Amino acid sequence: MRMYDLIMKKRNGEALTEQEIQYMIREYVAGEIPDYQMSAFLMAVYFKGMTEEETLAMTQAVAHSGEMVDLSGIEGVKVDKHSTGGVGDKTTMIIAPIVAACGVKVAKMSGRGLGHTGGTVDKLESIPGLHTSLSREDFFNVVNQTGLSVIGQSGNLAPADKKLYALRDVTATVDSIPLIAVSIMSKKLAAGNDCILLDVKTGSGAFMKSIDDSIALAKEMVAIGENA
Ligand code: URA
Repeated sequence: MRMYDLIMKKRNGEALTEQEIQYMIREYVAGEIPDYQMSAFLMAVYFKGMTEEETLAMTQAVAHSGEMVDLSGIEGVKVDKHSTGGVGDKTTMIIAPIVAACGVKVAKMSGRGLGHTGGTVDKLESIPGLHTSLSREDFFNVVNQTGLSVIGQSGNLAPADKKLYALRDVTATVDSIPLIAVSIMSKKLAAGNDCILLDVKTGSGAFMKSIDDSIALAKEMVAIGENA
């Protein structure tokens, strides 16, 4: 299999197979596929899109590129939430304590900024003395005792997304519905929660500028969740 052929296939509007997608993600994380070829692929996806099957296969390949977190050390129902991002997005800080106060466990790994949006971890770290990296044991203990902990994404959670996220940020391929869906859902599936709440933002400060695009993104993510 050659990355060149996969880029050409996508450029011509064809769908990649599950095996092709697994090969591409595996070899990219291993450093065997260079950024310039992955950039070309991402741009082809930007213009040609991906089928539901491709999006699911890519999500699973990206999720399995690193650790699949086991949260069984935390008692009760564990819920995660993801906001798709925007300039003033501070939803986690409000909703997570409310949910924890209602008795549902929130064991949350949050990300950093992408494009023009700020990440929850960046915002939290602006509080002097607050740190967002805890050992697995401390993370579980805090959630079991208080019902809530928000930490930075563990180093080995969906490493393929980390590389793709950074590449999209500098190649004008952030605002692609399938690529956003893959990025979000791969991390959510790897993070091991029982339930995932998706908060899809619309407007001038968000990635999705129109309601129609937001609904399309929401449907795509729900489809991945159901199929996975
Ligand atoms: N949030 C993510 O985690 N990934 C994206 O691509 C966009 C928003």
